[in-house]
Amino acid sequence: MIIVLKQGAPKKTIDAIMEQVEKLGFKPHAIVGIERTVIGAVGDDRERHTLEVLEANPFVEKLMPILQPYKLASRQIKKEPSVIKVGGASFGGLHFGVIAGPCSVESEKQIIETAVKVKKAGARMLRGGAFKPRTSPYSFQGLEEAGLKMLAKARKESGLPFVTEVINPEDVELVGKYADVLQIGARNVQNFSLLRRAGKHGRPILLKRGMSTTIQEFLMSAEYVLSEGCRDVILCERGIRTFENATRNTLDISAVPVIHERSHLPIIIDPSHAAGYKNYVAPLSFAAMACGADGLIIEVHPEPLKAMCDGPQSLDIAEFTAMMKRLKELAVFSGKKLK
Ligand code: PEP
Ligand code: MN
Repeated sequence: MIIVLKQGAPKKTIDAIMEQVEKLGFKPHAIVGIERTVIGAVGDDRERHTLEVLEANPFVEKLMPILQPYKLASRQIKKEPSVIKVGGASFGGLHFGVIAGPCSVESEKQIIETAVKVKKAGARMLRGGAFKPRTSPYSFQGLEEAGLKMLAKARKESGLPFVTEVINPEDVELVGKYADVLQIGARNVQNFSLLRRAGKHGRPILLKRGMSTTIQEFLMSAEYVLSEGCRDVILCERGIRTFENATRNTLDISAVPVIHERSHLPIIIDPSHAAGYKNYVAPLSFAAMACGADGLIIEVHPEPLKAMCDGPQSLDIAEFTAMMKRLKELAVFSGKKLK
């Protein structure tokens, strides 16, 4: 249920209503909008009539049931798009954030060199996996904590915040100790215990769509994170499985306007995992900006031929720099600020 408060409702009243909502067995989430505050009361829908007593409060304008199964992720609860800021990177609203870096952290030299160079080209956040979810148990699994330390060093050298994946609920604390943003990957989009643990941690979350999750399921996964108190969830469309095998996955570009209609959360595009081949990365990135996406996450490696993971889809520094130059030109027409 959404409890819409009147303009100028005092903080004391908001706190009292939150307390009352909790007593009635619901979890209250205050959402402060530009014009007014609303309180999302989330809980057992069958009991929502018990909240009607709140209508007696003179500062309550109205009660509105949330029609979608995802509540805190829905547009209904927050009309304005959420803008998520991490260091110098912003995603959502007018802001278009670019994240770049290798699929996996391989060495200190590799990650620092990449960080410094992608920043120079215009990236605002570094990516790099220290825990890799690999299809084969015999493939490189990542440098784990040593990789996190290298990422922290690259952040210090470049000034870029970094996002890195967490694949186990037990590792959330460890990864959260180093990372600015926790990534939950496509394969874990419905790992509900991981979603809950990550949502409790407090760091912003980059949540990737699964290769076979519907948009509704994807938003329900975001709801798990939000329901634990996390406010900062960046969604990421990274391609879905279809019959087409000319590309690694099929970029579902329509997820961008659909998600913008249904949710206030920002949605970025990962053209690297969608395409699987570096030649398609720039065109898909331009499409992402043209259709109103809130940013990109791109795999960049100083020597893609030597990459331990996802080399064929990785741009080298020169290719990334050229793509960013074009993207900056397009930004002028798209109404987005590259930030
Ligand atoms: C990644 O970002 O390196 C990754 C494994 O992505 P996805 O979860 O989208 O496959
Ligand atoms: Mn990858």
